[in-house]
Amino acid sequence: MEVATGATRCGTHPEALAIDTCSRCGAFVCERCLVLIGEEAFCASCYARRDVSGPASLRAAMALLCAGFGLFFVPPLSLLALLLVWLERRAIARGDAPRTSVAEIRAAKVVAWVGLVLQLLGVGAIAAWSWLLANLDL
Ligand SMILES: [Zn+2]
Ligand SMILES: [Zn+2]
Repeated sequence: MEVATGATRCGTHPEALAIDTCSRCGAFVCERCLVLIGEEAFCASCYARRDVSGPASLRAAMALLCAGFGLFFVPPLSLLALLLVWLERRAIARGDAPRTSVAEIRAAKVVAWVGLVLQLLGVGAIAAWSWLLANLDL
């Protein structure tokens, strides 16, 4: 068994030596508390929170809503949707948001990008059109 430096004790079991620290809250964990997900170590309570499931969070729903309205040539809403997607993704990674939000933020991201591309095309078309008009007037 690998023992942490000195005699660091587990945060939950003072009688047990800590063998690792939780990658999320930094608590010392002993063999009994340690939960490994791939390479990442978690304490029991962070693991429980990480696995939280439930309805997708409000932020994910807002991201989808903003992305949807962003389709109607409202660039700030598309950008806001992307920001919300980014925030939600971080929250999910920290275990603060339900993983059920993943599908919603994925959809919001696609819709937001489609909105931005459409807006760019629209601006391009208007620019090309005014250039043509200006040149035809010569
Ligand atoms: Zn923890
Ligand atoms: Zn422990």
